Amino acid sequence: MSTRITHWIDGKPWSGVAGRTGEVYDPATGAVSGLVDYATADDVDAAVAAAARAFSSWWESSVSQRTKILFGLRELVYANRERIARVLTAEHGKVLDDALGEVQRGLEVIEFACGIGHLLKGGFTQNASTQVDVYSVQAPLGVVGVISPFNFPAMVPLWFTPIAIACGNTVVLKPSEKDPSAPVLIAELWAEAGLPEGVMNVVHGDKTAVDALLAHPDVRAVSFVGSTPVARYVYETGTRHGKRVQALGGAKNHMVVLPDADLDLAADAAVSAGFGSAGERCMAISAVVAVDPIGDELVERIASRMASIRVGDGRRPGSEMGPLVTRAHRDRVASYLDAGVAAGAALAVDGRRVSVDGSSGGFWLGPSLFDHVTPGMSIYSDEIFGPVLIVVRAHSYPAAVDLVNSNPYGNGTAIFTNDGGAARSFQHDVEVGMVGINVPIPVPVAYYSFGGWKASLFGDAHAYGPDGVRFYTRTKAVTSRWLDPSHGGVNLGFPQL
Ligand code: NAD
Repeated sequence: MSTRITHWIDGKPWSGVAGRTGEVYDPATGAVSGLVDYATADDVDAAVAAAARAFSSWWESSVSQRTKILFGLRELVYANRERIARVLTAEHGKVLDDALGEVQRGLEVIEFACGIGHLLKGGFTQNASTQVDVYSVQAPLGVVGVISPFNFPAMVPLWFTPIAIACGNTVVLKPSEKDPSAPVLIAELWAEAGLPEGVMNVVHGDKTAVDALLAHPDVRAVSFVGSTPVARYVYETGTRHGKRVQALGGAKNHMVVLPDADLDLAADAAVSAGFGSAGERCMAISAVVAVDPIGDELVERIASRMASIRVGDGRRPGSEMGPLVTRAHRDRVASYLDAGVAAGAALAVDGRRVSVDGSSGGFWLGPSLFDHVTPGMSIYSDEIFGPVLIVVRAHSYPAAVDLVNSNPYGNGTAIFTNDGGAARSFQHDVEVGMVGINVPIPVPVAYYSFGGWKASLFGDAHAYGPDGVRFYTRTKAVTSRWLDPSHGGVNLGFPQL
């Protein structure tokens, strides 16, 4: 039986009848588990109107009141972490343990936002001019839109919404239509934590809903995460409509392994970071750059570890890698295995031969490994976003850095080495937003900010951390002079003292 999944507007489920719906699958069985309502422009308008109505009183609410609600949300998400994780596994396919990790990374941002009192403190200069004080305040923007991808249905909305709301904004979230249930569950938890109606709204759907948000005159800013072509479109369209936009896009994350590295550590890291969440992570390692002469040995160690990855239903204890999110995505990823072979790469491990602990109807693809990949091949140039790891050979460290810097993406990268000087040069030279040194997935903790460079991010602000607070506020500088009995009369000159 499939469940109906609908919008959350003005503190309650939407009661209308949708003209269009989309199927939501259980990727481990292939069965349709839900039907999600797709919003029209009018439905988006209703959500934005609710958010706009809620804005002025939410902004007027004290920082203390907002903080209390954030602490309440933190406790509720923590208490419901397994419930949320189960929903993630059921609709996305990632294994339960990984889904719990996703919730944990979202919790960290809520915890950061609990410190909003400290984060919103402005500057104050007494006597900037004689008896004139200057101070700055950070005001919220109003209604903000958040558009999120399928691969982190809980974490990515939580990158943005706690900070936006803590800063005094109200939100309309448009999650991925592929796995829409977790964001609604979290909206319910916001309400349970005491968030007033209309401050947090969720509309489901596709391009129609996104376009309505991008064009809506009452939406002041948009945070987007998804693929690069859509990120570019969202950035260009949103800014053309006068909005502040941050649009995080796709990735091709390189892991450089120098000859002096601990090869067991590097192989463990490549396998964990390449195949965790079936490679459906924007920070997944997708290209290993083996610097001569360790290529053969590294490939052998990676391949031997891949043989023991247990692929299966994410709900079953012991499964390490689940299915892909949809059949279409699974088929698209699998098509790269033929493309790589046709282009002349060596298919060292073929994931199509995997044995699976799960239903035969699931969207399965086992882990695959290509060796001797070169930049002209589509398996190198495209973001595959699945369990396909490629190895590129580089003859030297400078050649490896050139390779990383020539790539149009710049989300994450890592270097594995025992040479501190080489690691230090790498973090300086590499044109990538997030860098790991002997750490394969360097997702920054919540009090730093997350974001790539080049085609991995459009806009000026990274997500969460200090950039998140800046993105969701605008600064007002106030110059104030309280008259005293000795005011000095008319003076047409610019103040000097
Ligand atoms: P996607 O671009 O297909 O969809 C993202 C969002 O945009 C969804 O809400 C979707 O409904 C909407 N959308 C899709 N097509 C649209 C269109 N033509 N016009 C307007 N809106 C549209 O991305 P996805 O497949 O859901 O997610 C995977 C992608 O997200 C990968 O490229 C991955 O690298 C990227 N991602 C990036 C980060 C990051 O931080 N940089 C994090 C997670 C995922």
